Order: sequence, then C-alpha cells, then structure tokens
Amino acid sequence: MKNTDILIIGGGVIGCALARELSRYEAKIAVVDQAWDVAEGASKANSGIVHAGYDAVPGTLKAKYNVAGANVFPTLCEELGVPYRRCGALVVGFSEEDRPTLQELLDRGVANGVPELRIIEREELLSLEPNLNPQACCALLVPTSGIVSPYELTFALADDAALNGVTFHFGEEVSAIERDAEGGFVVRTNKGEWRCRILVNCAGSSSARLHNQLSSRLMHITHRRGQYYLLDRPKEAPFERTIFQCPSKMGKGVLVSPTVHGNVLLGPSAEDIDDPLNTETTQSGLDSVMEKVRLTWPKVSLRTNITNFSGVRAHEERGDFILGAVDGCPGAYEAVGIESPGLSSAPAIGKALAEQIAGEQRLPAKAELAPYQKPAIPFREMTPEEQEKALAENPLYGSIICRCEVVTEAEIVAATHRPVPATHIDAVKRRTRAGMGRCQGGFCSPRVAAIISRETGIPLQDITKNGGNSYLLTGTLTKEAEGREQA
Ligand SMILES: Cc1cc2nc3c(=O)[nH]c(=O)nc-3n(C[C@H](O)[C@H](O)[C@H](O)COP(=O)(O)OP(=O)(O)OC[C@H]3O[C@@H](n4cnc5c(N)ncnc54)[C@H](O)[C@@H]3O)c2cc1C
Repeated sequence: MKNTDILIIGGGVIGCALARELSRYEAKIAVVDQAWDVAEGASKANSGIVHAGYDAVPGTLKAKYNVAGANVFPTLCEELGVPYRRCGALVVGFSEEDRPTLQELLDRGVANGVPELRIIEREELLSLEPNLNPQACCALLVPTSGIVSPYELTFALADDAALNGVTFHFGEEVSAIERDAEGGFVVRTNKGEWRCRILVNCAGSSSARLHNQLSSRLMHITHRRGQYYLLDRPKEAPFERTIFQCPSKMGKGVLVSPTVHGNVLLGPSAEDIDDPLNTETTQSGLDSVMEKVRLTWPKVSLRTNITNFSGVRAHEERGDFILGAVDGCPGAYEAVGIESPGLSSAPAIGKALAEQIAGEQRLPAKAELAPYQKPAIPFREMTPEEQEKALAENPLYGSIICRCEVVTEAEIVAATHRPVPATHIDAVKRRTRAGMGRCQGGFCSPRVAAIISRETGIPLQDITKNGGNSYLLTGTLTKEAEGREQA
C-alpha cells in the first residue's frame, strides 16, 4: 500500500497542468498513468491548435476555459520553453450556404471575448492564402489562433511538477476506487493499492468509468477517433495559417495546418469506436480526410507524407467539460469529457481545479518553489555561433544521432536526465525529435536505444519502443554483445 495526500489519475495535459499547479501547495502528490510516459493519450495525438475560443457556445465551460487558457499560452510557453506560434486561422466557407455558420462563429467569438475576429471575402482570403481552393467565397479570420507542440507542453508541465516534488508512476492502471474508513480513498491498480485523502480523476477516455464508481450521477464517454497525415517539412509552407472548414456536430472538421516544427498536418477524421486504445489508422478513415483536404487544398500531394497517426477524443454526451468536485463524494475531484478545446483550455483548467482543491482542502501555499530549467534550444535551431559555443562546452553536440531532424547525442542524453526522464525510444523521440523525420527512426533507433541504456542503466535488451512489452530486441545477447554493453 502506497500513501499520498493527493492522487491524480492520468498524466495527460490536464493531469500534468493540474499537478504543476498543485505542486505550489504543501501536499504529497502522485500521478499514476496506465501508459509508460506522460502525454500518451489524446494529449500526444491531436491537431495542436490553441483555439482562440470562437467555436464554443457562450456560457459553457468549454468557452470559459478555452478563452482563459488561450490567453496564457504565449507567456506559459515562453516560460517553459515550449514551441508555440500564433499563426492565426481561417474558417473557410466554400459556398454561400456556409456564410450563416461563419456569422454564428463570429457572434459566439464576440460573446466569448475573442478579439480581432472578422469575416473576410474571397479576394482578401486568396491574397492571404494563395494555395487555397479558388472556389472559397468567404472566411472567418482568427488572428489569435495558435499552434503548439502538445506533448512538449505536457512534458514541460510534468517536469516542473516533478521538480516541485510530484512523483510519476507509469504502467499503473487504476481499476477500482473505494472509500476507506477515514473518509479517504483506496485506489486499486495492477501494481497494488494507493491510499489517498484527495483523489483527482483526469483519466481521459476512462474518466467516465472511474466517475461512475464514485457518483450515482452516471456519465458516458464516446470514443471518437481522429486520423491524420503528417507531411514532411516543405521548402515553402503552403499555408501560413491553420485552415479549417465549417464545423459539424462531429467536431471542428478537417484542417490543413502548419505545425510548430514546420511540417504540414492534414486531418482529423471523426469516427466512433469501442476501444479507446485503438489508435490504428485505416484506409477508409484516411480517405475521408483526403477527400475533405482536397476541397481546401486542391493541389495537395501525398508524396511527402511521413507518417499517419490517430488520437481518440473523449466525448461526454452532455457535450461540455465536467470539472470540479464529484457530486456526493467529498475529497474527489474530476475533469471528465475533456475533448477539444481541451489542449487550449489545459492551463486554465489546471489552475482553476488546483485553486478549488487547495481552497476546499485547506492546503497551505509553499514558501518557495524550485526554479524551472528550460530545455536547451535544439541544436538545429541554434545560430552557427551558438552551435560552436555548445560544441565547445559539450563535445556530444558534435555527434549527430538523428540525421533527418539533426538531433545530437547531447540532446538525447539531456532527455534521459529530465525531471520526468525519457526511458524508451518514443519518449526520446517526442522530447528531442530523434526519429520524427523522413526515415521515422529507421537509422537512429538502435543508437538512441544504446544511449538510453548507457545513461539510465537499463540493460540494452530491456529498452522498449514505448514501455510495457514493446521490446526492440529478442533472443539472447551474444558474449561479444554483452561485453560491449558492459564496456
Ligand atoms: C483527434 C484530436 C484532435 C484534437 N485537437 C485539438 C486541438 O487542436 N486543440 C485542442 O485544444 N484540443 C484538441 N483536442 C483535445 C485534446 O487533445 C484533449 O482535450 C486533451 O489532450 C485531453 O487531455 P487529458 O489529459 O484529459 O486526456 P489524455 O491526454 O487522454 O490523458 C488521460 C491519461 O489518463 C490515462 N488513463 C486512462 N485510463 C486510466 C486508468 N484506468 N488508470 C491510469 N491511467 C489512465 C491515459 O493513459 C492518459 O495518459 C483533440 C483531441 C483529439 C483526439
């Protein structure tokens, strides 16, 4: 039995934003996640758009937290060293029938307090985005829409929380929650039991199932998968802004967007599935994306497609975020149904939930916080002078491990020593981009595995792709390889 004051279930962007905010108070805090890293659920596989807040219905929690969250992104990302860019967005109407929808989005945005929104006509639209389908007739211009690296944000939030005492426990799936005799909770996982005074359910796809163990007001999550194409970095970006089509009841529709790393993202589809862990991509799902993308971008070509991926939305049937204290269950709190704009809202949700918990549970604020250390600028983004200086200080900058994305050994070593360390291939990939390029890790994965092993002491044969049983090597080591590993 492990004891903690606060147990947060789920290390997605919501759980990590909350953990960071709660780490400012005097309390023993643990985060458990069934996956083997933070940001392994919806928080790693989404569009990465920091929505401005024009889409959510005024008066909903989605509207409130989207606008509040989006406002803090520029400073938060600067403070944490997370890639973010306010590139703007366009919601495009392809016929006059779309105009009332655009007007409704504009009205909602104004009611939600989103600045600088306006509807623009064809000529201005095509001068802003010349690669857009010339059939476009009008659009909602959203200058304050942004793009972010969603998993790098989650890593940074988790690192800051860990620096301030929060512990992270991976590969630990919560199956049951019960009340104990002292008014706290006993939480059963595949690795044993936790006892805690305060429980916070940020379990994304499982959040409704865990909620239903605590409250008689039942909830239901529909798992809605979204599939994507990710294109290689073009010499010239086809679009400066994120281009949306008009939204439908299934979501914000298919977009074409630059990413913060200079790639082009196409997607997502929207299909309801039974298993939230089923992140396969399918021909029919991808075809449905391409059919819609061609309307936005008739000249689209898949010749530079690097990879496909999918993420699963947690859609609660009420259609709004469910946040705060669990009905009729003192000491329990939750964030249920956090679908889009959940990423954009995360900083504001984390703050509001932490303040509510600290206030109601009388948590004293810490006198001092550990200073956050931004990750170093990636080598590929340094000026030649900065590269020379970095190399002089650390010769491992001279060893390029990932040639596609120009990632050095120094950066991979640093990733394995972050407060929430990277201990498998995908964890290094998302923290450094080693393996994110055209060859998708075909060349660098063995070298990354060797570095992880050397830096963490995990034997090479136990290094995995993404935790659990996803071993890279099978069979037994030869005497020669054993000797090499020990050297
Ligand atoms: C296709 C798609 C596109 C999107 N695009 C955008 C966008 O552009 N902008 C935007 O603002 N939002 C977007 N979103 C929404 C956003 O990604 C989510 O709202 C956000 O990531 C939710 O974070 P979370 O922490 O609640 O959930 P998650 O990231 O799913 O985290 C939940 C965590 O709980 C863990 N967990 C689950 N069950 C258990 C259990 N029983 N025991 C232990 N751990 C458990 C999971 O492993 C997971 O790590 C999109 C979502 C999707 C799927």
